[in-house]
Amino acid sequence: TLLPFFLEGEVVKGFGRGSKDLGCPTANYALEVVQSLPKDFVPGVYYGWAQVDDGPVYEMVANVGWCPFYQNKQMSVETHIMNEFNSDFYGSNLKISLVGYLRGEMNFDSLDALIAQIKQDIQNAKDNLNQTSAQKLKEHNFFSHKQ
Ligand code: ADP
Ligand code: MG
Repeated sequence: TLLPFFLEGEVVKGFGRGSKDLGCPTANYALEVVQSLPKDFVPGVYYGWAQVDDGPVYEMVANVGWCPFYQNKQMSVETHIMNEFNSDFYGSNLKISLVGYLRGEMNFDSLDALIAQIKQDIQNAKDNLNQTSAQKLKEHNFFSHKQ
């Protein structure tokens, strides 16, 4: 997949499988957004930037794919934004730019193993986003920037 890859659309209710309970809420896109992905899009975990409506641009990790742990029947794009929001933002517009690839999809033996991997992904995302080349993409015209 050619990076950075830009994606935009409405945040909808996910599968209600309690990502929040894992301490890791993931904003889900509607099916039309997911279906707009190129057929050969490489599934896996990506890091990049995210913006809710006209808000600040934050760091994020996004899972693109079939999520084997939950045996999804549907492809999904789920974005965890590295920011504490005061409230949910269902119905908002979410812009993301996928800047880099962290890993492919994996199976986990336990929920603990899954949570440990998510923590590792978040740390790896932060480290990668600190690089100058990634920082530049935070200022990309794709995002709205208030003057
Ligand atoms: P769902 O199954 O509906 O996606 P989640 O438990 O994954 O439920 O929670 C996702 C929702 O939580 C998002 O749609 C958003 O409204 C809200 N949310 C709050 N903080 C964040 C965050 N830091 N990153 C992503 N979503 C967040
Ligand atoms: Mg979710």
